[in-house]
Amino acid sequence: MSSNRGILDLVEVMYSFAKAERSRYRRERGVIWVTDLVRCPLKRVYEDRYPDIALQELFKPSLIIGTLVHRGLENLLKEVVKDYSIEVEVEGAKDVVLDDGSVVSIRGRIDVLLTRNFEKAAVEVKTSRSDRNIPQKHHVDQVRAYNWLLNLSGSILLYITPTRVTQFYVEDRMDDAEVVSRVTSKKAPRYSWECSYCVFSVLCPYKTEV
Ligand code: SF4
Repeated sequence: MSSNRGILDLVEVMYSFAKAERSRYRRERGVIWVTDLVRCPLKRVYEDRYPDIALQELFKPSLIIGTLVHRGLENLLKEVVKDYSIEVEVEGAKDVVLDDGSVVSIRGRIDVLLTRNFEKAAVEVKTSRSDRNIPQKHHVDQVRAYNWLLNLSGSILLYITPTRVTQFYVEDRMDDAEVVSRVTSKKAPRYSWECSYCVFSVLCPYKTEV
């Protein structure tokens, strides 16, 4: 039987890339990522407690496809959009004070930043197997957080699905009070559908069925 590896093991290349990407989101004390504001708060706790279970997410084909679409779109925009300055993977950080007086730094990284004169907008790309119920609430919340974090005019939520490619423009934004309430919220899950897709559902006592 001939080898299926050929001259270059591209699966290994993508695996190494996925590992490197994951390490960019390594936890730091006092830092909360925007993605933590729009998912079940218990996942963050479980990721520290059960890191091996969390690793199941490392090489999910749907996530690999998402990464490739992101990279492709970022390059395409840089090539064809001339009216705006384009920056990719732009990070923002802002401190908020919690009710007990402690300070946490909220960080977020947007896919693309479009800038023209005083206008600044994000592009957030979402790939999905279905176009049902788009724009999804947690995606809208995510870009509302980015609008607050980076003081944007708005964010384009771009959906790439097998049956629809479309966009929604979100101008609404979170404020400090909403961000603080999301940081301190113990509501688990945060969105009703989350447990169905959660790797920690195999051990979590708060798992709910929808
Ligand atoms: S199973 Fe549900 S409640 Fe438990 S961590 Fe996952 S999303 Fe949160």
